[in-house]
Amino acid sequence: EVYADYSATTPVAPEVSAAMMEVYENTYGNPSSIHKTGRAARHIVDSARRDIAGFLNANPKEIMFTSGATESNNTAIKGAAYKRQHLGRHLITTQIEHHSVLHVFEYLEKKGFEVTYLPVNEYGEISLETFKQSLRPDTILVSVMFGNNEVGAIQQIDDIAILLKDHQALFHTDAVQTAGHLPLDVKELGVDLLSLTAHKFYGPKGIGLLYVKQGTELEYQQLGGSQETKRRAGTENVPMIKGMATALALATEEMDARNIRLMQLKEYFLNALQERSIPFEMNGNKNMQLPHITNLYFPFSDVEIMLTLLDMAGVYVSSGSACTAGSIEPSHVLTAMFSEDKRTKQSIRFSFSYTMNEEEIDYIADQLLKIYEMNKERSEY
Ligand code: PLP
Repeated sequence: EVYADYSATTPVAPEVSAAMMEVYENTYGNPSSIHKTGRAARHIVDSARRDIAGFLNANPKEIMFTSGATESNNTAIKGAAYKRQHLGRHLITTQIEHHSVLHVFEYLEKKGFEVTYLPVNEYGEISLETFKQSLRPDTILVSVMFGNNEVGAIQQIDDIAILLKDHQALFHTDAVQTAGHLPLDVKELGVDLLSLTAHKFYGPKGIGLLYVKQGTELEYQQLGGSQETKRRAGTENVPMIKGMATALALATEEMDARNIRLMQLKEYFLNALQERSIPFEMNGNKNMQLPHITNLYFPFSDVEIMLTLLDMAGVYVSSGSACTAGSIEPSHVLTAMFSEDKRTKQSIRFSFSYTMNEEEIDYIADQLLKIYEMNKERSEY
């Protein structure tokens, strides 16, 4: 079996589960309790927040724990739109965002906001020129993802931030796929809001964070206790917060080594396909791409058939975002990049881990060769 769907989710690193088990077993107190057991839990939450803030070059007060990037994106976008609607009702995002961003903007459109969805070129990149033209005095929020989860396209977040320097609009980025692959220095990026989720960098599922730059006002939805400085009520998930901090520490420390390994594996994979004479084209620009994601167009078989055959052979990959897999809807990301129907219906996303080896890549290539040979006669190749 070969799992190659690491941008859908990663397994929890052993160091991370060990750190979490330690908390589950020994520090079960409620961080809001004032007794010793509660204070021990509070200490874990506080130091995790401090560590995470350090990795992002943020202030601990600017880190808000959430249940994952879906919640972070919802909080950032709805929170900014509602809080700032007196300043304008225009919002900007891109056509290739994750559904946890896109569906929030679609919802806001129904509530009377106006949304510009920036197009992308065939490499999945937005144009700064088009962005500049779409910016209006009444724009109150811009949300552009850092690294795309389907094709790995990277956007020039720092350049967008420069263009927004003297503008009232808040700048949010969904940096989920970028974590552990590119430095996430919120000051260098110049963002006001940034979303992360731990299970994409070998941490647990169901925990994430939203960076909220000091002075940024949002309308918060979850009322109750005074946790997260009254921005998100509810008892903190202490073990998972510890797990996320541990995972981010490892991801930051090992970033360069992991990236080098991932780039080697990507090259090895592309060569393996070429050696087997399997026809393919890359969706995206290899030089501006997250190292763990490789999205390929195979002009000989529909993706549902390929995914089924690969699954039967024990190769676990995806046709794009996990949410659209299983349904025959072509990916909205590929649709934004390409006009040909075939390209959007015959593409597969492979996402690798630094823990994988060459034999696993060869196995994937061998299975793709089998599918190609089965389909060769009826394809144009
Ligand atoms: N944004 C991107 C780019 C993603 O890849 C994901 C992953 O599914 C999310 C947001 C949502 O994260 P979660 O499901 O952990 O809330």
